[in-house]
Amino acid sequence: MPLLEGTIGVEDLILLEPLDEESLIKNLQLRYEKKEIYTYIGNVVISMNPYQQLPIYGPEFIAKYRDYTFYELKPHIYALANVAYQSLKERDRDQCILITGESGAGKTGHEGAFRRQKRLSDPLELELQAALSHLMWVLGTKPRSSTRRNLVSKNQASKLVMSYVAAVCGKGEQVNSVKEQLLQSNPVLEAFGNAKTIRNDNSSRFGKYMDIEFDFKGSPLGGVITNYLLEKSRVVKQLKGERNFHIFYQLLAGADTELLKALKLEDDTRAYAYLNGGVSKVDGMDDASNFRDVQHAMSVIGFSEEEIRQVLEVTALVLKLGNVRLMDEFQANGIAASGICDGKGIQEIGEMVGLNSGELERALCSRTMETGKEKVVTGLNLIQAQYARDALAKNIYSRLFDWIVNRINESIKVGTVEKRKVMGVLDIYGFEILEDNSFEQFVINYCNEKLQQVFIELTLKEEQEEYKREGIPWTKVEYFDNSIICNLIEHSQRGILAMLDEECLRPGVVSDSTFLAKLNQLFSKHSHYESKVSQNAQRQYDRTMGLNCFRICHYAGKVTYNVTGFIDKNNDLLFRDLSQTMWKAQHPLLQSLFPEGNPKEASLKRPPTAGTQFKNSVAILMKNLYSKNPNYIRCIKPNDQKQQGRFTSELVLVQARYLGLLENVRVRRAGYAFRQGYKPFLERYRLLSRSTWPRWNGDDREGVEKVLGSQEDLSSEEVAYGMTKIFIRSPKTLFYLEEQRRLR
Ligand code: ATP
Ligand code: MG
Repeated sequence: MPLLEGTIGVEDLILLEPLDEESLIKNLQLRYEKKEIYTYIGNVVISMNPYQQLPIYGPEFIAKYRDYTFYELKPHIYALANVAYQSLKERDRDQCILITGESGAGKTGHEGAFRRQKRLSDPLELELQAALSHLMWVLGTKPRSSTRRNLVSKNQASKLVMSYVAAVCGKGEQVNSVKEQLLQSNPVLEAFGNAKTIRNDNSSRFGKYMDIEFDFKGSPLGGVITNYLLEKSRVVKQLKGERNFHIFYQLLAGADTELLKALKLEDDTRAYAYLNGGVSKVDGMDDASNFRDVQHAMSVIGFSEEEIRQVLEVTALVLKLGNVRLMDEFQANGIAASGICDGKGIQEIGEMVGLNSGELERALCSRTMETGKEKVVTGLNLIQAQYARDALAKNIYSRLFDWIVNRINESIKVGTVEKRKVMGVLDIYGFEILEDNSFEQFVINYCNEKLQQVFIELTLKEEQEEYKREGIPWTKVEYFDNSIICNLIEHSQRGILAMLDEECLRPGVVSDSTFLAKLNQLFSKHSHYESKVSQNAQRQYDRTMGLNCFRICHYAGKVTYNVTGFIDKNNDLLFRDLSQTMWKAQHPLLQSLFPEGNPKEASLKRPPTAGTQFKNSVAILMKNLYSKNPNYIRCIKPNDQKQQGRFTSELVLVQARYLGLLENVRVRRAGYAFRQGYKPFLERYRLLSRSTWPRWNGDDREGVEKVLGSQEDLSSEEVAYGMTKIFIRSPKTLFYLEEQRRLR
């Protein structure tokens, strides 16, 4: 029986017949229309953003999912949480939960699904469960939108966290404060790292991985947060309809007169050049009230009053830098130079962060070159000076963000504990193909390529382990191995990133085009690399690709990257004059953000490039993920209009490809497509045999043997009896059993 003909499609895509893209999308659509937003591929949860609050969360649901094994109830994220938590607790295996999908698909908001739970007065287990769910939520997000909702949900959440803490062993003050700190890290990170974009009003503009550590009894001890690639270009420029990071608007709307006066800020966003690019308000978002929440959260985490003040001063500094107006000037010899139009702004900056304003002006408008022992100062022209100013603002802000993450980590870090269990949660941007793809998309897609590698390897490994646990022989699975693409990008000597670094460090005239020429020369024969010049007789001449582009055939599809800006973004260099000036600030926080400005450190090697830094942090992440048992949530955005009930097939298809869903089903189906504990299986199918129906008093496994033995058409190759589960090779067998059941 093709289950697709049923009203809500198949709950597990492993059972899909026929197995192709069309029926996969159709199945998701059928389910979405019936508000069934979750679908499995084995133990992977696919989640469609419903863009509406569905009544499928809350204590009753948690209670239900706590009592059943994975396949016994409808697909749900609670089921995944249950499995992850049980394995952490009982099988003593560290877990990670990987949430991926494109912007607006529900990665962060997903966890919001947990925020509707109320305090549970029931058994301890229930509390643990609720708390686990909440932990996931805590890690990813705070409630968004309207203030009232924010406050209500947040109160609920903290109460829930408290109830969790009360339920689990250590009732001490210390555990309470750990929980509270974990909870409060969210509004802070979101204020500084999230922004309104066209696709999502509260879009996370950074990748985040958080390990939460538990003691052997399951009490939270603390955690570590790692952040990836903050989109710092947003600090100086936003697209139409978008905003800068939330914190700027929060500060202007929420600071009282005294604070505004101290920071010499105006409460009108229109007064700031860096806030003038897009819109200033987000429907239903109360910046002022969120600002108070952020301040409160910072103090709960353990930021001192002084630290909070300094963070806000640095934030204000960025806004003020944006207002530093530069103008053309000419040196005596007629060469173009630049100067500051209005000294007041720079004076204010100087006073606020203890800088000599004359020196700051010099640093913005000129550059010192050292040739041997000689120092030559050259003036920057207007364009160069504006570039320097914006580079400084972006650098200050992104370093401030890193500092905040480190500061939070200091508060939540776990001391020396003998044995701990760890649950990691990764909320990271999915595969991206934009109209114009640049360095950012290149590294994001590289990260996704690596995640796909982890995914395939760990899925197979987990399969293998399950077979071993159940005592079933393993059969080899063929799959697309994307290490060829990973290598093309990351190979330490011959990868694209290495080439980019080499070009950045090479003396002489380097440019994005010399970099591209190098790639073309090296990779023209690579099966996953294409460019205009590498197009050969076998490949069709492609008019859509510009001369300054190269293309990578990723596992998820082909992406054309424009090399313009690659060198610059990878270098990520700040003129030394600027970092030295910042280091001289009489402002402990600002000074600490520019250690390389210290003349004593000046001789140190140049810092690693942006590409290398990213590659290194991805390597650490991979190592971390490989040491854990993975649990996947694949989020899909059903339409571009943020509308409930609307399903755009083409859009979903593209995401399904990026998420590698079909390959996922294929891998899962390669061995035994279906497996289930003996008890639930017997419960479902025992009406098929006279021996087990209407009554069966024997052992579950024996009962299953009776049921399957009574099916004459069933080949013995099709099933394998594990220690605790029955394994069925092809979905057709299951359809057959279902059909028999229906005929009874
Ligand atoms: P980004 O990569 O931009 O951060 P994201 O995948 O984190 O995107 P979210 O912010 O989680 O996207 O989701 C976007 C919006 O979709 C949320 O603000 C919320 O309104 C809605 N949403 C997501 N998941 C759910 C859900 N399970 N139930 C109801 N609404 C949801
Ligand atoms: Mg997000």
